[in-house]
Amino acid sequence: MLDPSDIIIKKDALIAIAKRCFDLRLQTNAGGNLSVRLAERNAIVIKTSGIGFNECTRENLQVVMLDGTILPSEPDLKPSKDLEFHLDIYRRREDINAVVHCHSPWATGYASTGQEIPCLTVQTIEKIGRMPLIPLPENGGPQTAAQIGPVFDDPAIKAAVLANHGTIGAGKTLMAAQYLAEIIEETAQVAFVRDTLMLALRREKPETPRYGTHEDERHALERA
Ligand SMILES: [Zn+2]
Repeated sequence: MLDPSDIIIKKDALIAIAKRCFDLRLQTNAGGNLSVRLAERNAIVIKTSGIGFNECTRENLQVVMLDGTILPSEPDLKPSKDLEFHLDIYRRREDINAVVHCHSPWATGYASTGQEIPCLTVQTIEKIGRMPLIPLPENGGPQTAAQIGPVFDDPAIKAAVLANHGTIGAGKTLMAAQYLAEIIEETAQVAFVRDTLMLALRREKPETPRYGTHEDERHALERA
């Protein structure tokens, strides 16, 4: 028996995070999805198909058991296409209690080149470590649970990027998963600026900053 008050708390938390995601323009239209595990640990709350992140309400979110059973109290809601990969991640990882998947444009654009987004900022190295790029399936359709799930078997993986599709942040809480979605997008933007400027400056690798070096002192004396 699932605790009805926990369901309400988790639905309200999901609604708040979905709104934050929309407000930050990480997810427009009705794409993407997010979910959170219930206290009993064998069920989740997830957004249903066709509902925008800014339109989530207690009535259009769905409670689904980890074995895929949808609660009979919600017969009219259409399950999300992403339901199976969310369930699969929760089944594989006890430490994960929330998943935020969105089609944020910088990360999705970067990943559409077939390149993994590099963890190049201090924050990304510390908070994420690595965000694997999951390729498109051979038929060119969206990635499925069979491609996504195994990536999360590595307990160090908290974030992944789906080629030509979007991002996944998986955390202990909804806010932790949301922060990952935000950091992935921010890192893709930073990486794009770096890559573009390196190309414009015709540099193979970044220059070492000169401040405080003898060379810097010499330049200062020359300018004086
Ligand atoms: Zn998607």
